[in-house]
Amino acid sequence: METLRVLVTGGAGFIGSHLVKALVKAGHQVRVLDNLSTGSIENLADVLDAIEFVRGDVRDYGAVESAVRSVDAVVHLAALIDVAESVEKPDLYFDVNVRGTYNVVRASKNVSTFVFASSSAVYGEPIRVPIPEDHPLMPKSPYAASKVSGEAFAQAFANQYGFRPVILRLFNVYGLKQSMFYAGVIIEFIRRVSRGEPPVIFGDGEQTRDFIHVSDVVEAVMLSLRNEGVRGVFNIGSGEGVTINRLANLILKLMGREDLKPIYAPPRPGDIRHSIADISRAQKELGFKPKLGLEVGIKELIRHNVIRVE
Ligand code: NAD
Repeated sequence: METLRVLVTGGAGFIGSHLVKALVKAGHQVRVLDNLSTGSIENLADVLDAIEFVRGDVRDYGAVESAVRSVDAVVHLAALIDVAESVEKPDLYFDVNVRGTYNVVRASKNVSTFVFASSSAVYGEPIRVPIPEDHPLMPKSPYAASKVSGEAFAQAFANQYGFRPVILRLFNVYGLKQSMFYAGVIIEFIRRVSRGEPPVIFGDGEQTRDFIHVSDVVEAVMLSLRNEGVRGVFNIGSGEGVTINRLANLILKLMGREDLKPIYAPPRPGDIRHSIADISRAQKELGFKPKLGLEVGIKELIRHNVIRVE
């Protein structure tokens, strides 16, 4: 691939920092715009000398405009991502995720590719699984609504400006430096088991999630940048549903503590029952193929035992 100049908003966060390292390794020129509200400069320590880091806020149009200047591609990851907090503070989520995304898209007049990190949350409680991209969008929280809105602005400005929009609906991303949102259940189980406590499962444990390792998400972004014919919306998950019962038993097995039987608590209101991505479109059009299996990914987390805590 030719060398690209890429702006990564939210590049100091969990997914962003893994992506920035991969971009640098592949020889691209990287600029990061991040206000360090949930991200951290330490996440980028290994590559700080090789990138341009701009501390700035996506709510500030002037900062966004100068960060976008002279880049070929934008990967927009900056967002607040706590669904529960979005219910308590909808104005804040509107400002950062809706207004912020609008600013980034609007400033991207001269870029050729715009990649937006959307979320499986846009589907709400799915009416069928696995979920294809043309499933109805039924956001259940201000966070989810902000992602629907971001997608719409990316599409609308693509028409106006002519950039190639690639919208990645990420499912439950996990890996080193992850936060407690989305795949927090993995961390919570590992923590409890390492303290000699059984995992606590809310509900009957038969709810499913689609966990995807951050390295596979990074690969999906790299493919989006590389494949110049690709545009539109793609689910990015493993394509496999894992029940929370299976997850708990897997972690107990991998940590050698099968004696600690999971305990069950009442279901949490608002939790989605099933979430599994249909990734056939990403496989066919993007060439996406998840590589890192859940067992290997969880072993990595257990081995490093250095999980970022929110
Ligand atoms: P994260 O919180 O680790 O990263 C978000 C980054 O954005 C942080 O570095 C933060 O400092 C920065 N940021 C927040 N507000 C900002 C602002 N106003 N201006 C500039 N920077 C700001 O989260 P993540 O898990 O890496 O998520 C990255 C993106 O992927 C988000 O858009 C999120 O909605 C999306 N996503 C994540 C998951 C997941 O499982 N983690 C799933 C679906 C979608």
